[in-house]
Amino acid sequence: MLYPQEFDVIVVGGGHAGTEAALAAARMGCATLLLTHNIETLGQMSCNPSIGGIGKGHLVKEVDALGGAMAIATDEGGIQFRILNSSKGPAVRATRAQADRVLYKAAIRRRLENQPNLWLFQQAVDDLMVEGDRVVGAVTQVGIRFRSRTVVLTAGTFLDGKIHVGLNNYSAGRAGDPPAVSLSARLKELKLPQGRLKTGTPPRLDGRSIDWSKCTEQPGDGMPAADGTPPSTPLPVFSFMGSAALHPRQISCWITHTNERTHEIIRSGFDRSPMFTGKIEGVGPRYCPSVEDKINRFADKDSHQIFLEPEGLSTHEVYPNGISTSLPFDIQYALVRSMPGLENAHILRPGYAIEYDYFDPRSLKSSFETQQIAGLFFAGQINGTTGYEEAAAQGLFAGINAALQCRGEGAWLPARDQAYLGVLVDDLVTQGVTEPYRMFTSRAEFRLQLREDNADMRLTETGRRLGLVDDARWDAFSRKRDAVSRETERLKSTWVNPKLLSVEEGERVLGKAIEHEHNLFDLLRRPGVSYPALVGMNGGAFVDNAVSRETLGELAAPVIEQVEIAAKYSGYIDRQKAEVERAAHYEHLKLPADIDYLKVTSLSFEARQKLARHRPETLGQASRISGITPASISLLLIHLKKGG
Ligand code: FAD
Repeated sequence: MLYPQEFDVIVVGGGHAGTEAALAAARMGCATLLLTHNIETLGQMSCNPSIGGIGKGHLVKEVDALGGAMAIATDEGGIQFRILNSSKGPAVRATRAQADRVLYKAAIRRRLENQPNLWLFQQAVDDLMVEGDRVVGAVTQVGIRFRSRTVVLTAGTFLDGKIHVGLNNYSAGRAGDPPAVSLSARLKELKLPQGRLKTGTPPRLDGRSIDWSKCTEQPGDGMPAADGTPPSTPLPVFSFMGSAALHPRQISCWITHTNERTHEIIRSGFDRSPMFTGKIEGVGPRYCPSVEDKINRFADKDSHQIFLEPEGLSTHEVYPNGISTSLPFDIQYALVRSMPGLENAHILRPGYAIEYDYFDPRSLKSSFETQQIAGLFFAGQINGTTGYEEAAAQGLFAGINAALQCRGEGAWLPARDQAYLGVLVDDLVTQGVTEPYRMFTSRAEFRLQLREDNADMRLTETGRRLGLVDDARWDAFSRKRDAVSRETERLKSTWVNPKLLSVEEGERVLGKAIEHEHNLFDLLRRPGVSYPALVGMNGGAFVDNAVSRETLGELAAPVIEQVEIAAKYSGYIDRQKAEVERAAHYEHLKLPADIDYLKVTSLSFEARQKLARHRPETLGQASRISGITPASISLLLIHLKKGG
């Protein structure tokens, strides 16, 4: 049957990429159809029920700044929030939340069901309708033909998916879900360049069988410490439109660890490991290795921390983060029970690895439209990435560009100095992947300006122009932006007369007394000078109250944060920009033949390994090695300048 309604955008797959793609296209006014295997699994987290982390949290905030769902759904489903790297500079601070997977899915589904211009339909897509070199729709398992002007494919780990547990394997998209075999075959027929990757997940445990007294409690930020001390930090919030009041009850995670016995048990299963016996051909994520890979690669380590993360408020299920494995079940059983607190642990679901098809992202245009078939866009794990956040960001991006194509407008291509999304897209389409790609702050050469805290300042105006940002978000953003600019101007035009400032107060607030007039903004640049102390100096006599706390209202904290960061970091940001520009001029710079890249610790481990393997002759050659980012090049240049 040919379905009577024709769509602008069809999104295939209701995972993290698909849901953001569908919501974005619909928000931009396109008639959008989300076709997915199962409506019950919309927004399902295939692995760890956690959102964010370093680099990943940055992407989530960017998706949010463009009106996406992931951050606000996490605020509604998050049962433990933490700010990682909170003692480090703002560029690398990142939000991470443990989510209740049921509440998270419900929050995503509610948004999908209430989104105007969006239709949901449950069916497997087995085929694409292609006329000439253009896609014109999708065909489902029972032969329903849906016509559309564009198709966004977000099939995740499902294309020809194969699950491995020990030497046993079977076809599946993830545990409990069918694979997409016919669609995979059709894509191969269309001669889109593809390969195989793999990822894995740990066995899940029944919390009732864990002896928590043998584990170490890890409360989240904004929660009382394990000994009952009141929280010293506020409860973090993910969305620029969120608030801590949206969060459900907050609970702790726990920590246990592997030991020599665990490692022996793991080693005893190597001969039945699908990874080590060559049953798995796909390459796995280096930064999320299976426990057998860790024991094999880091043989000298006698213990690894394992985080016991609750899967939700209404379940006893626990996710043991750190023991992802595809070893046979008898080994899984024994290795779990070898750890403190888990001596009697009952496994609810076995761990497994999954191999799946991905498509070489170098065959995509910068808009994520395939070069071979007009109107067909790819986003998410299918492009060789790993992670919910990377998928959501790509989905939003592909949804935007499919919608723009329907509107007859050119693609939106964020630059590398505008967003992590720009870094992600550029890395994928120019360098491709050799292993599942995940985001790190080290991939961004302009990371000082690509912070979580200013994602809205960087992107919400663009989002509004594209039609992604609703009135409520726009009003809140405009108030914050205007307050930041008013307060910055006020600090720049408020001068401190040294004669009116006591030596004692000057030393207390500014570190030392001042000798001539300074404006408050310049004083704020000084290390150790904080905004509240500065504006309270001299009983606030220097504060003209043009912007009072009342005017700033509830935005006060984020507004102050922006003003303070602008004052303290603008010098570093300018220097970083100059450094990146200089690096581009060093194309022919010869690299020392005897350089030991593994010792260049400022570079990421991945960059060190790749440079050590390829041993490029010039900086230009180094910059073209897949996985070597402009950020790595500028760090390498600094190392060489220091005589390294
Ligand atoms: P998915 O979330 O996989 O969603 C794909 C969606 O498409 C599903 O809803 C599916 O039903 C639907 N679909 C597929 N084919 C069709 C079709 N033909 N017709 C209709 N619907 C279709 N990430 C990490 O960051 N860390 C990890 O440790 C980690 N471990 C993982 C372990 C496992 C076992 C798995 C499966 C994934 C793991 N991931 C991990 C990856 C993470 O789950 C993905 O990166 C993320 O879910 C990708 O999002 P996506 O939207 O691209 O695809």
